[in-house]
Amino acid sequence: MPLRSKCLIGWITALILSLAVAVPVPAGAQNAGGVKLRTVVIDPGHGGHDPGAISKSSKMNEKQINLDIATRLGSRIEKEYPDVKVIYTRKTDRFVELAERGNIANRNHADLFISIHVNSAKNTSASGTETFVMGTDKSASNMEVCKRENSVILMEDDYTTTYEGFDPDNPESYIIFNLMQNAHFEQSIAFASLVQQQFVKNGPIKKNRGVRQAPLMVLWRTTMPSVLIEVGFLSNASDRTTLNNASNRQKIADDIFNAFSSFKKQYDSDAAFEIDESVLAPQEPEGPHYEIQILASSKKLKEGASELKGETLYQCRFINGMYKYSVGNFSTREEAIRHLPEVRKKFSGAFVVEVH
Ligand SMILES: [Zn+2]
Repeated sequence: MPLRSKCLIGWITALILSLAVAVPVPAGAQNAGGVKLRTVVIDPGHGGHDPGAISKSSKMNEKQINLDIATRLGSRIEKEYPDVKVIYTRKTDRFVELAERGNIANRNHADLFISIHVNSAKNTSASGTETFVMGTDKSASNMEVCKRENSVILMEDDYTTTYEGFDPDNPESYIIFNLMQNAHFEQSIAFASLVQQQFVKNGPIKKNRGVRQAPLMVLWRTTMPSVLIEVGFLSNASDRTTLNNASNRQKIADDIFNAFSSFKKQYDSDAAFEIDESVLAPQEPEGPHYEIQILASSKKLKEGASELKGETLYQCRFINGMYKYSVGNFSTREEAIRHLPEVRKKFSGAFVVEVH
């Protein structure tokens, strides 16, 4: 199937890119010194005044399902791996800011971060499970999840400061992630593919939507392998019935536990991680995109330089001996042109550029 080979090329390119900026060693090799997986942070999504997705009848809340599965998963890890420290970002129905969830993992030097969520979509026939790793693939279906999960920050008191002006509804905001490098990309994909493998094999919801990459705020600054699992759709009648049943939620927790066991085994040994390509989601081919160039300079400008006029969310590229600064990330030229007058209010000479 041509799509499949294209998808593999996309994934392999992503892996190579990540390795080019990270350390080009087999994933397990860093553990040659006897480093073991000792701490896991489990993050039940949402909580408190943020219910997450809500079922049509309002009887079911995402936050409750997340906490229930997270607790079942954590108890099993604690029982079968007494040496592993299990830390929860929340154990009760309370609100925790997205950035703080990652901070908890960083502060505790966690070796793995597992965020648990339930999906929801306008299209009620959408169903199945998917596991996200931090990445810059902004395909439409990934962006739907992204906007929903990232919009939680709008419920926080001081989100413009915490997230450096990030606006989850504004596509331009997502360009900050293009500058991001993730040293744990390969390990995150390895764990994510183990989770999806388990769901497909044993899960009460077998439909595989795959391992995907998306710019998810909660995974942004974690300094360990991190995933966000969407265990099914609350907006889908069949998934909803499944998730409403406690023994099914236990099965989902058991699937994630089995993935954890396999991951820990590989992590604790020197073996390189094996990635099951059959559970990777197809990637949309990367075409050109459009940005708005605001200025060019022969010298690299410092952050906050007066020439940038307070602009912080920009992209800088060194092309033909010049540093070129641009903003925005548009899929069509027309869309970029529509934003041009706004940008020209500050940078009168701004123009649209095609980026490959
Ligand atoms: Zn969620």
